[in-house]
Parts: sequence; C-alpha cells; structure tokens
Amino acid sequence: MKTTEQHLKGQVALVTGASGGIGQAIAMQMAAAGARVVINYHSNDKGAQKTLSQIEKAGGSGLIIKADVAKEGEVTGMYAEIATKYKTIDILVNNAGIQQDNSIAAMTLAEWQAVINTNLTGSFLCAREAVKMFQKQGVAPRRSKSAGKIIFISSVHNVIPWAGHANYTASKGGETMLMKTLAQELAPQKIRVNSIAPGAIKTDINKKVWSDPKQNEQLLEMIPYGRMGEPEDIANLAVWLASDQADYITGTTIYADGGMTLYASFMHGG
Ligand code: NAP
Repeated sequence: MKTTEQHLKGQVALVTGASGGIGQAIAMQMAAAGARVVINYHSNDKGAQKTLSQIEKAGGSGLIIKADVAKEGEVTGMYAEIATKYKTIDILVNNAGIQQDNSIAAMTLAEWQAVINTNLTGSFLCAREAVKMFQKQGVAPRRSKSAGKIIFISSVHNVIPWAGHANYTASKGGETMLMKTLAQELAPQKIRVNSIAPGAIKTDINKKVWSDPKQNEQLLEMIPYGRMGEPEDIANLAVWLASDQADYITGTTIYADGGMTLYASFMHGG
C-alpha cells in the first residue's frame, strides 16, 4: 500500500467479496487512502483475515463481516452491524461475484439462479441498504462532497457477449441498467453511482485460463495492451472514483481492460 494522499480520510467503505482477488485489493487501497473498511466475504475466512491483517499492518483499520450478499436477512444483518460499529458508510463497492459456466442447453436453473442471485440481486440488496444510510446522513462536507458513492464492479461482459456464460453476461448487463437507473434516481440527493468494467484480471475466478499456457496465449491475443490486469489496476481506479476528485462523475462505466473492448481481431484485417 503506497498511497500517500488520504483522499478518503474519515470515510467508511464497505467492499463486498473482499476475501480475495479484486475486492481484497480494493479494500487495501481504500484503507491506504484513509478509509475504515468493512471487509465482507462469504466463505474464505482466511482470506478475509489476510485482508484485515494487511490493512492493519499498513496502519489502517477495518471490520470483517461474513454475509452472503444474495440473502436479504444476511445483508440487513451486516448493515445493522455496520451501524453499531461505524454508524454509517460513505462508500459501497459491489464487488462480490461468481461464475458458473455452461452452454445454454445444459445450464441448470440452479446455475442460472446462483449467478443472478449473487451478482445482480446481491448488488441490489447491498445498494438498497447503503442508500438508506446515505439518505439518513446527507452530505457531510468534512467527509465528502457527496452523500454517498456506489461503485459496481461490472465486467467487459456487460457489452461483449460470451458464449457459454449466459447467466454471467445477463447479470452484468442487468447490473449496468441498475447502476444507471440508481444514478439517475439519486443524483439530486448527491449520491453518485458508477461502474468499473474490468477486462481479464488475474484472480482465482479465471485461474483455469491463465494457468494453462495455451489458453493464456489465446487470452493475451484479445488484449491489445499485451498483459492481463492486476487487481491493483482496478483498486486504484476505485479509490479515485470514490474520491471527491471524481465528484462530477455519475451514471457511467469506466472500462479498465487493456483495450479488450477495442475488437482486437480487427488489428490484423477486417
Ligand atoms: P474472486 O477472486 O473469485 O473473488 C470473488 C469474491 O466474491 C470472493 O471474495 C468471494 O468470497 C466473494 N463472494 C462470492 N459469492 C459471494 C456471496 N454470495 N456473498 C459475499 N461474497 C461473495 O473473483 P474476482 O476476479 O476478484 O471478481 C470480483 C468481481 O470482479 C466479480 O464481480 C467479477 O465478476 C468481476 N470481474 C472479474 C474479472 C476478472 O478477470 N477477474 C473481470 C471482470 C469482472 P468468498 O471467497 O469468501 O466466498
């Protein structure tokens, strides 16, 4: 954690799915920027503990809360715990997400629902509870110019179709309209809502691809910038988007994808 500017000083950030991958990096960078961080996770106790101990080692502070974002009671319970410890939050990062891939003819209802429930319904539930807190606190100028910020960790697959991943693309496409609608509805209340759409970021979610040399090579052909992203590439952007430096930005998606959405196959023909 090398952030010297404390852009988020005095603020509280909830990061869902912060026991590994992108969420863990976001939690650490938010803490380095001065925020107290609520580390939500689902099953990886050790990962969540690692996030907190790294934050504390760097002089930050946080709170671990285990909750399945797809379950309403667990989400409201998490927010009740936050209210007790920190009173409110200033930033929600809706990062928790899963894939359960299958061809459409073979996809079970359980696979469809698991992905929609975690990625889309989970984001709705966490956003709804965050908005209630933002509305209650209003703008606290000493903390931030806005009453609250929500960042969805979307995907390039909110615009790029992906064969064999209908549940995942539907969840990310749906999340985009959820983000835009909330941004429109909440802008008059000085609540900012945006998405970050990562390309291929090296985490557990795609380990099968990057740990196989042939699949890794095929993947790199889709990235004009010539490398996979690292979780920190997304975390740095999330901190900036949550800060007052981005105060005029709401309702948009920022792609952090090394050019994956530039139709790389057109580099050599077309
Ligand atoms: P990851 O390493 O597999 O981490 C996923 C995180 O989500 C874990 O902390 C996991 O917690 C948590 N999670 C899963 N289900 C949950 C639930 N029901 N309730 C609460 N937390 C839950 O994946 P990642 O690559 O960091 O992905 C993070 C986000 O980025 C996802 O939304 C993903 O769609 C998006 N994204 C990733 C990439 C990429 O290339 N990596 C690209 C585009 C978008 P536990 O492990 O504790 O269960």
